[in-house]
Amino acid sequence: MSAVAAVEAAFRRADEVRAGPDGLNAFVHVDREAAVAEAAELDRMVAERLDVAGRPTHDAGRSPLGARPIAVKDNIATLGLPTTCGSRILAGYRSPYEATVVRRLREAGAIVIAKTNMDEFAMGSSTEQSAYGPTLNPVDRTRVPGGSSGGSAAAVAAGIVRIALGSETGGSVRQPAAFCGVVGVKPTYGRVSRYGLVAFASSLDQVGVFGKTVDDAAHGLSVIAGHDERDSTSIDLPVPDFRAAARESLEGLVIGRPREYFPDTLDPRIRDVCDAAAERLRGLGAVVRDVSLPHTSLAIPVYYIVAPAEASSNLARFDGVRYGLRLAGDGLTGMYEATRSGGFGAEVTRRILLGTYVLSAGYYDAYYRKAMAIRALIRQDFVRVFADGVHVLLTPTAPTTAFRLGAISDPYEMYLSDIYTATANLAGIPGISVPGGTVDGLPVGVQFLATHFDEYRLFAAAYALERSLTEQGEHP
Ligand code: GLN
Repeated sequence: MSAVAAVEAAFRRADEVRAGPDGLNAFVHVDREAAVAEAAELDRMVAERLDVAGRPTHDAGRSPLGARPIAVKDNIATLGLPTTCGSRILAGYRSPYEATVVRRLREAGAIVIAKTNMDEFAMGSSTEQSAYGPTLNPVDRTRVPGGSSGGSAAAVAAGIVRIALGSETGGSVRQPAAFCGVVGVKPTYGRVSRYGLVAFASSLDQVGVFGKTVDDAAHGLSVIAGHDERDSTSIDLPVPDFRAAARESLEGLVIGRPREYFPDTLDPRIRDVCDAAAERLRGLGAVVRDVSLPHTSLAIPVYYIVAPAEASSNLARFDGVRYGLRLAGDGLTGMYEATRSGGFGAEVTRRILLGTYVLSAGYYDAYYRKAMAIRALIRQDFVRVFADGVHVLLTPTAPTTAFRLGAISDPYEMYLSDIYTATANLAGIPGISVPGGTVDGLPVGVQFLATHFDEYRLFAAAYALERSLTEQGEHP
């Protein structure tokens, strides 16, 4: 298929499912003409056997992704489309440069057809905290798609694109992937460049990938992963071909089932989906073992100290001087106050206040320093089980299926959505969510976690589970 045909097909599907503000509200910035023109340019280069830089190539027409429409979360910088983080404070903001992940995808033949809706500054678990209004879950439009990368998850679930980018600080790719019935991968901290990702909590943030299938996610991650001299936190390690993991045998793979992720209070139907997945993998030669990660229950309190602390510092740059919105006030301080009060929504304001508080003199030791010490224990739990011979952990991605729009108004209850995902961000390890089944017709995600830089094993387990479910006609 030509690039133009692929992009036009994606837009047709977007119209069919009403992806825009009158429907799913998954897309917040779209420029059809520009996307089609870019596709036409790509087709021309393929015809003339040029690569993206305009150099002659023998590989034309066989670019790694092959003219694929993709969607990108609104906190990842793109040339051509605004980058507004779902926030009023960045209304109309256009980045003068492009994120490395987007550049790499374009060079591989991808065309960005839209920026996707998200919780403001990626703070949230439902995509209801967006200045553009909530995104709906394509599986059931009365429900949330999860968050904060809900627009990207919905775009993939609705069949508009097969690959979309999201970002992860505490679960924002894996949890919406689980809620929408698609695949979502969060790479190891340092695996993917964050150049051009708007910072939320810098010790936790990573770009992640949504895929319609495991292979789509593996494909996307293979393209974006690897060292970038523009991000000194990206690690210079070889990137395996994650798609080759499809051929791995599970013979001898040791899967840990952490008991803290299966408490008595867990919905038994979600537990059953996970246990059925473990059973399938056992049938393929894996060994399943009970393990313990004793500090798991501290992850949410720790995350909601560390992430707001870093956010309060990162978001100080949005002051009405350099980016987006500026509201008039009395003098310079008045302008700051008016801009920040009027530009940030309720959840972002809450996080800035909370973060400023835990970092302030007198509270730093009581909260922030203590949280950092416990964070080290959470990381240590993982290091220990992986050193004990466990290759991957299998857990639920989220404690519930997609909840109804407006159902959760208590912020703390919303924070509990991240209970099984935030641990990986705190520890820096990679994780993937794969559709494992349904409960009352709603998707349930099975999560795999692995040790640092072992995404390959995650993919091996994910491919095997997906294949086993598909072969038996049970793929949700
Ligand atoms: N839901 C979590 C939060 O609100 C995680 C968000 C994310 O991963 N960006 O902070």
